[in-house]
Amino acid sequence: MTGALVDSFGRIASDLRVSLTDRCNLRCTYCMPPEGVPWLPSPDILTDAEVARLVGVAVTRLGIREIRFTGGEPLLRPGLVAIVEATAALVPRPTISLTTNAIGLDRMAGALRQAGLDRVNVSLDTLDEDRFAALTHRRRFADTLAGLHGAAAAGLTPVKLNTVLIRGVNDDEAVPLLRFALAHGYELRFIEQMPLDAQHTWDRTTMVTADEILAALRADFTLLPDPVDRAGAPAETWLVDGYRDLAGRPARVGVIGSVTRPFCGDCDRTRLTADGQVRNCLFAREESDLRGPLRGGADDAGLAQRWQAAMWPKKPGHGIDDPTFLQPPRPMSAIGG
Ligand code: SAM
Ligand code: SF4
Repeated sequence: MTGALVDSFGRIASDLRVSLTDRCNLRCTYCMPPEGVPWLPSPDILTDAEVARLVGVAVTRLGIREIRFTGGEPLLRPGLVAIVEATAALVPRPTISLTTNAIGLDRMAGALRQAGLDRVNVSLDTLDEDRFAALTHRRRFADTLAGLHGAAAAGLTPVKLNTVLIRGVNDDEAVPLLRFALAHGYELRFIEQMPLDAQHTWDRTTMVTADEILAALRADFTLLPDPVDRAGAPAETWLVDGYRDLAGRPARVGVIGSVTRPFCGDCDRTRLTADGQVRNCLFAREESDLRGPLRGGADDAGLAQRWQAAMWPKKPGHGIDDPTFLQPPRPMSAIGG
């Protein structure tokens, strides 16, 4: 072990988000323009073996305990199953999860589970087929639903749902989405819309705030304080009175108030992009290259030291409320959400 990924404010990163591709088969309006974005050139993308090597360094030398694969759309990565398998073989074995739009997951869930995937977060912003098409610029609602249910059937549980509400678009669906999640035993999390879209069109006035989401939910449900410690997790969670999940535990709902209720002081994340750059924050404007040293022959200890050096200057907060705030040059789809 080389040591922990600690920053100058004493925060320790134990949760690694790995983007496996910047490409996607949807075009969610808050993420990408309909025409997409210029994709990373293939030679820049880490190979499966390179991803496995860096994840191995993170787990065996830097104290990473949780790995989440994301993108872009991680199910589009041809080597996904092999990467999960290599990750699950690490000692100590990390928890492995996937954030996905679930298109095609019904066909892949069994193989991913067998490879060692523990659970999934599926992004679903609406229960209306036409709205889904308007929101994502693709008619894939049925595919997402099939993937979602396929994940649960394969035992990738607890299945979590991620929802971004947009004013005037789907902000009337907080309650129906929670009813849907409760009916199926899925755990729903609402995420405040963040200034990370490729088009740079984020506007605070269209963001539905955590307070508004909670007010909408409380009109139909009784939300009780969650006795379980949040422990650095971005979501604030509540128990939904009278409901249970598939395992018979009290059902929960979460709100990730990234903008209005920032959790930066407790952040335990580090990020690796598909082209091998370490980011110490979703909103960082600087990245640290690991691909160059990796391809140049650096050993594991050297890579681990570079990773530590990349984390040390992590800022105390994202600074969205700061008048000097500038959106990071890369969009969420390229950073890895
Ligand atoms: N394609 C996968 C998916 O959609 O789940 C993984 C990548 S996506 C960037 C990860 C998560 O980020 C999704 O839940 C998505 O809704 C969320 N997301 C994307 N852009 C966002 C934004 N501007 N603000 C808040 N959440 C965003
Ligand atoms: Fe693709 Fe996910 Fe972005 Fe939607 S949020 S466009 S599914 S990367």
